[in-house]
Amino acid sequence: MRLDTLRAANIERQTLWPGVAAVDLPFRGLELAGEIGELCNLVKKLHRHRGAIAGNRAADPLVEDKLLAEIFEELGDALVSLDLLAMDLGLDLGPAAVEKFNRVSERVGIPVYIGVDRARGPDETVFHELGKGERVSHD
Ligand SMILES: [Mg+2]
Repeated sequence: MRLDTLRAANIERQTLWPGVAAVDLPFRGLELAGEIGELCNLVKKLHRHRGAIAGNRAADPLVEDKLLAEIFEELGDALVSLDLLAMDLGLDLGPAAVEKFNRVSERVGIPVYIGVDRARGPDETVFHELGKGERVSHD
């Protein structure tokens, strides 16, 4: 799924969401924080399970699979909420992620970037810059 597809779906669904008139920027921030909190709680439980740290409920042979399924769901919630916050601020996640990803690559000296490799066409791709304009793209 492309981020612009998620944005289009969020825009459309928000027009139908009951109570949306009362949704404001603080709500969006809290919504995102709530979803991230849910995700982090599950990661904690998975870490506790894997490390045999006391605190989880009764032993369940399927706990790893169940927690991963719940984490999968919360990752989705977190991304949707992040896009809703960005949407309300009039910002796009894709360019924000590309810009920041490339800036961090530059800062830490790892030559992996996101951008357009003109030799491969107009679509964005991941490329490994070898030096003086030489690139290797990854599909
Ligand atoms: Mg959730």
